[in-house]
Amino acid sequence: MILGAGESGVGTAILAKKEGWNVFVSDFGVIKEKFKIALDQLAVEWEEGTHSMERLLSADLVVKSPGIPNTAASIVALKEKKIKVISEIEFAGYYTAAKTICITGSNGKTTTTLMTHHILKKAGLNVGLAGNIGESFAKQVARENYDWYVLELSSFQLDDMYEFKADIAILLNITPDHLDRYEYKMENYADSKFRVIQNQTNSDWFIYNADDKVIEEGINKRTITSNLAPFSLTKEIAQGGFVNNKQQLTINIKEQFTMSIHDLALKGKHNTQNSLASGIASRILEIRKEAVRDSLSDFVNVEHRLEFVAKVHGIEFINDSKATNVNSTWFALESMEHPTVWIVGGVDKGNDYSELLSLVKDKVKAIICLGKDNAKIFEAFQNEVETIVEASTALEAVAYGYRLAKKDETVLLSPACASFDLFENYEHRGNEFKNAVRSL
Ligand code: ADP
Repeated sequence: MILGAGESGVGTAILAKKEGWNVFVSDFGVIKEKFKIALDQLAVEWEEGTHSMERLLSADLVVKSPGIPNTAASIVALKEKKIKVISEIEFAGYYTAAKTICITGSNGKTTTTLMTHHILKKAGLNVGLAGNIGESFAKQVARENYDWYVLELSSFQLDDMYEFKADIAILLNITPDHLDRYEYKMENYADSKFRVIQNQTNSDWFIYNADDKVIEEGINKRTITSNLAPFSLTKEIAQGGFVNNKQQLTINIKEQFTMSIHDLALKGKHNTQNSLASGIASRILEIRKEAVRDSLSDFVNVEHRLEFVAKVHGIEFINDSKATNVNSTWFALESMEHPTVWIVGGVDKGNDYSELLSLVKDKVKAIICLGKDNAKIFEAFQNEVETIVEASTALEAVAYGYRLAKKDETVLLSPACASFDLFENYEHRGNEFKNAVRSL
């Protein structure tokens, strides 16, 4: 039984069918046309707009989409009947012997996953890319024959993984996000992230951010058998990675690897952390130093993550629409080198803006709120900046930005909020912003 007919559900159907299961797909919402066609081609039965509970409760195994919370009535009923409910990654893991690098954290997953995949692929490894990104892991396990996978794992996927084991696990950071799915308890959310190291043995590796307090606490309360390879921006690390006093990214795995942080393709402290994590994983795989250096300096990130859009009359416009929580915006503001007009707002997932106060004082000259309800942003910052205005479209926000910023200053879209009050999703928000900038 597959719950949810999105990329991961349909991928699961493909693999399950191949492995000889009887498959039924049930989606409470509306299934996209392309997925209906794919299921019909597989001759897999499906339903939408409902879950036929009787049929569901007769399943031997349920694979559920990460979008469905464990509090959903259907999941509660399944668990009461002790029917096994797992994620797509867990299911696909049953059918592959490929090795995995699994990347999780509150922020930086996609960037680090793509960067790691880039290094491995350029070095000639037979490596696939999956998880929360691109084509589902299950579909690739059914159709490809990779030796390695780099997997981006969200906490929702990790929650339904039990037997799966990462050969190399990367935990980037743990800051408040999605707490609504974790009874508003940070500890539950952190436990979920730590599942990335479940089942690891002393031949596996755990790469983690040693500057992160929540991770440190999590490590202290566990007995971990994996080889540890922490990274830090503030202290030297004997086995792992750090930035030394000559501004060199330094990795101590087997031999020492160094490169200037000025040669890294992605700027900002957060991206140095991401580069450290990817670099450590690559050196564990003994990828040649020269190859690691080249790949860390020529990597091109995907859109909407501190993406340079254009310079118009000396004003730089940056699109960081993917920043949907306070921590990612913190790193964006931290990396600003010029006085900044900051576009912020949207749907707030319980934000505590006080963490941004000192950065805003330091770097922000004006604020443009781009959301339906901006009361919290006004309350937090109106005494910190001279100008604070409201916009209800990206066009309006960019027009304000262009008016408020001067030559050699920056207009930064880094909303710290989800986008669905005014936009379809963060990509839509970022694209509207870029279009507005380009039409100036
Ligand atoms: P995720 O897949 O975890 O959402 P992304 O790589 O898509 O992460 O980046 C999301 C946002 O977080 C972007 O605004 C990006 O600039 C910021 N970011 C990237 N890496 C980090 C990091 N290591 N720590 C904090 N913020 C980060």
